[in-house]
Amino acid sequence: MTLGALPHMVEARTLAAREVTVEGTLQAARMPRLDAAIVAAVAPARVHAQFCRDEEGRYILKLSVHMAVRVACQRCLGPLELDLVSDSQLAALWTDEQAQQLSSRYDPLITGDETDLWQVVEDELLLALPAFSYHSDSQCGLATGVAQPDAAEPDETDAPARDNPFTVLAALKNEPSERS
Ligand SMILES: [Zn+2]
Repeated sequence: MTLGALPHMVEARTLAAREVTVEGTLQAARMPRLDAAIVAAVAPARVHAQFCRDEEGRYILKLSVHMAVRVACQRCLGPLELDLVSDSQLAALWTDEQAQQLSSRYDPLITGDETDLWQVVEDELLLALPAFSYHSDSQCGLATGVAQPDAAEPDETDAPARDNPFTVLAALKNEPSERS
């Protein structure tokens, strides 16, 4: 599925009243705080933003964000790819006081008429970003020890494949095409 660029400024309450769903991609360059915290983006963020009202009349944003990023392993400093995934339910509020009374099923989104959707997505990705990231034991050091760009790929001769869930997934995905 091809997605267009995510809208920047939105009127969250108006969209919620109309039950609008917004989808799009967002480049790391649009998220300077995230951009500074990672080595590189593997792909732009994919965003699904569903605006709606709940049974108590709150203006709700159900936000799903996925972004593959590259960070540095804190142990070997080699590149490490992470999937940042965030699913949140935000309630559009005017004040901090309202936020203190908010039901715990929601996170507060304190905003005026216009909401910077890029910044909301960036905040969620920063929350999803682990403070410290490490390779698994079998992978750590491989990327910096081997000059080949595909060093991060599972190596059947060296790495114990059963320890890597991605190897299993890749095998499952490849199986049907190999048979046909
Ligand atoms: Zn490492």
